[in-house]
Amino acid sequence: MQLRDTPDQLRFREDLRAWLRTVLPTLDPQPSQDDWQARRTYDSHWQALLHQAGYAGLNWPAEYGGRGATPTEHLIFLEESELAGAPYVGVNFVGLLHAGPTLIAEAAPEQRERHIPAILRGDEIWCQGFSEPDAGSDLAALRTRAVRDGDHYVVDGRKIWTSHAEVADFCELLVRTGPADGPKHQGITWLIMPMDAPGVTLRPLMTAGGSTEFSEMILEDVRIPVANRVGAEGDGWRIAMVTFAFERGTGFVAEVVWARRRLAEIAALARENTAWEDSETRRRIARLAAEFDALWALVKRNVSEAEHSAAGIPGPGSSVFKLRFSEARQHLDDLHADVRGRDALAFDDDLCTYDGEPGYERLRSLAYTIAAGTSQVQRNIIGERILGLPKEPSATAPAAGAAKGGAR
Ligand SMILES: Cc1cc2nc3c(=O)[nH]c(=O)nc-3n(C[C@H](O)[C@H](O)[C@H](O)COP(=O)(O)OP(=O)(O)OC[C@H]3O[C@@H](n4cnc5c(N)ncnc54)[C@H](O)[C@@H]3O)c2cc1C
Repeated sequence: MQLRDTPDQLRFREDLRAWLRTVLPTLDPQPSQDDWQARRTYDSHWQALLHQAGYAGLNWPAEYGGRGATPTEHLIFLEESELAGAPYVGVNFVGLLHAGPTLIAEAAPEQRERHIPAILRGDEIWCQGFSEPDAGSDLAALRTRAVRDGDHYVVDGRKIWTSHAEVADFCELLVRTGPADGPKHQGITWLIMPMDAPGVTLRPLMTAGGSTEFSEMILEDVRIPVANRVGAEGDGWRIAMVTFAFERGTGFVAEVVWARRRLAEIAALARENTAWEDSETRRRIARLAAEFDALWALVKRNVSEAEHSAAGIPGPGSSVFKLRFSEARQHLDDLHADVRGRDALAFDDDLCTYDGEPGYERLRSLAYTIAAGTSQVQRNIIGERILGLPKEPSATAPAAGAAKGGAR
């Protein structure tokens, strides 16, 4: 494991810093968090700038328009971008952080050629249609059905919590192609669904923070070409585990840098007001500083492992990171509220939909221990896959392997 920059990595870092210094002042102000079309335009423009400068898809193969850089350079990119205050992936989250990498790992050459360049240029947005009203942690219980009809699958069912569905062009969709009463992990298939296909209806859902970032997705007789199937029919569970490895392995990484910066701001604020006089507050600040330092080292370790694995897919260490980061992130927002005092509760309606506003961030952080697999599910994965503990006992036996990311 290499924790310091090599000369090549240092050069990469310095070139990137210089580019960020030039390009960031040219950007328009960020649009309102709930103006989804404006956000799409803004995020796509940023992605196009990255692409033109050779910073899109850093660790993706050069043959698909990526830079072919090492995962360590990818981390440097995330670190420097966050420190410079650059926009993050925004509505390109799914495409760039897990759908694209899954396509590279699992899709047919023509599927990669069709989709990867468009994701990298910021031309096409993706969403994830995995969760259903009765299949979240127990994802393998999903019931959205796909029935073969000639060259198409005809899909019927309901998906929920589909982030950014309103602006998405394509969806990574998990469907049941096997019998409803068969082994639940074996009858699942991973499809690419065009979001403009007839029969797709979206119902936006409101979060506690007032954002409509996700939707319920109703699918009625949606015809999806068989050519849009990734991998073999019935192999979708294995492919979904590849998607999760990327989602947890790198999805939250840039936020560690953000969290360290926010902690420094909180410490400065505490020094300005009476909060610093409380020794327990000082201890909480110190504990979180150590936690985020350790998480950054853990990220480097996970990335280094993926770098040296044949498939380039993050291992179960991504669950340790996801668990610890999401819980530390909530402690950070609690600390911020305590240090600010009453101000933290009285966020006003105009500001509450903007990232960085403390009251809104605190509400938003509640989702961290749920999205991409809950903390309880991560603990099951760590217990079973890293510590080698016996599988979770369950009344319905297959549930142990079915938890979202149960990774069987
Ligand atoms: C901000 C946000 C964005 C999201 N975006 C998407 C998206 O784009 N696409 C998508 O498909 N999904 C998305 N989700 C859904 C997310 O993946 C699910 O919410 C998550 O997997 C939990 O499923 P659930 O909500 O059905 O809760 P449940 O699975 O019903 O869990 C309820 C509680 O029971 C606990 N529990 C369940 N099973 C076990 C077990 N075996 N052992 C111990 N405890 C258990 C859970 O930990 C939880 O506390 C998003 C969620 C959030 C919060």
